[in-house]
Amino acid sequence: MNLWFESALLEDGWADRVRLVLADGRIAAVEAGVDPVVGDDRHFVALPGLPNVHSHAFQRAMAGLAEARGRTDDDFWSWRDLMYRFVGRIGPEECEAIAALAYAEMLEAGFTRVGEFHYLHHAPDGSRYDDVAEMSGRIAAAADAAGIGLTLLPVFYAHGGFGGQPAGAAQGRFLNDVDGFAALVERAASKLAPDGVIGIAPHSLRAVTPEELRELLPVANGGPVHIHIAEQIKEVADCVAWSGKRPVRWLLDEVSVDARWTLVHATHVEPDEVAGIVASGAVAGLCPITEANLGDGLFPAAEFMALGGMIGVGSDSNVRIDAAEELRLLEYGQRLTRGARNVLAGEDRAATGARLFAAAVAGGGRSLGVETGLAVGRPADIVSLDRTDPAFAERKGDALIDSWVFASRRAVDCVWRGGVKQAEGGRHRDRDAIEARYRAALARLTA
Ligand code: ZN
Repeated sequence: MNLWFESALLEDGWADRVRLVLADGRIAAVEAGVDPVVGDDRHFVALPGLPNVHSHAFQRAMAGLAEARGRTDDDFWSWRDLMYRFVGRIGPEECEAIAALAYAEMLEAGFTRVGEFHYLHHAPDGSRYDDVAEMSGRIAAAADAAGIGLTLLPVFYAHGGFGGQPAGAAQGRFLNDVDGFAALVERAASKLAPDGVIGIAPHSLRAVTPEELRELLPVANGGPVHIHIAEQIKEVADCVAWSGKRPVRWLLDEVSVDARWTLVHATHVEPDEVAGIVASGAVAGLCPITEANLGDGLFPAAEFMALGGMIGVGSDSNVRIDAAEELRLLEYGQRLTRGARNVLAGEDRAATGARLFAAAVAGGGRSLGVETGLAVGRPADIVSLDRTDPAFAERKGDALIDSWVFASRRAVDCVWRGGVKQAEGGRHRDRDAIEARYRAALARLTA
């Protein structure tokens, strides 16, 4: 079925009365200034689907469980302890059920592709499943069930700290050597849908030695490379103690970081590191909701974007799954620390939400190895806004996106991914069944 919108944010800007002709999951033609024809699915406003560059889907199931104060030094590391205890109980069926719900909710929020930073490879005792890529296959099955695009990033994890320290017992499910990892990636790639993308994710400089990192990179085979970096002050201090360099500096100096790379978080960076990431072409993968939830700190987004740096946003821990909220919090963090408004708008009179949205669509596509945006030949990944939300009354153009990001409540109406309508009225087409399966998995996990 072809689509018609009162207005649409096309690759080259806003247009009114837009028909999108779809074929084979892609946009076959874009007609602006036209009337709908009989049979067109008619809607209010079309935006390109937003990529979600960083997710650990299983963590959706522990959202809200880590919000009671523990010891007085409650921080990221105490959160990680709880996460590890939770991880010990998740089997293949639970993994798939939780991921399917997370992915359905991503579609409902306006995300049309997810970069799954997937490290739950092995059985809880660290032994291999009969199929070494069993859990990767479950992630792929969950993405197919929900209908979201998947860029799978199997994680390489081998150590418990800088300099090749041994991993802890709780990390047994994550561990591989380089050869085993290469076999796992190859097998995982065979499980993806035709428009799936495979990449790799060296977990962090804590978990990978320099030698392993260099051996690992050919496994990416030209696909995306994602890494957690400089998320925590302690991580930066440990890296300096180990190498004499801060994490981002070390990475830029020692490895050929380029536009295939996404540096996830990169929270704690000095000006020379900010400039170095921009020069490399790597995407900064920012996760404002999770970074706020974990008390990580604030990435210098204004400086980075002013230099032309590319950003993507990710829902990371999935404590909340909300595309607009990621963009809103990205800007609000800057406002709260600078005592200024519209910090990330870039230029005078530019619309802040619209600029952040466009940046996250373009950077997200680079990060996940796909084309984004509404134009001929691109995937038909489309989000329509809900005309019944009064936040959109008498809004046009960029003000629609600003109103979505900063002011709306029930903003997303329909979501198409690969030309298939996956959500309508803000609700996933298969939400009831996906949610029932999730509830059953949670009952087993907490029994
Ligand atoms: Zn992460």
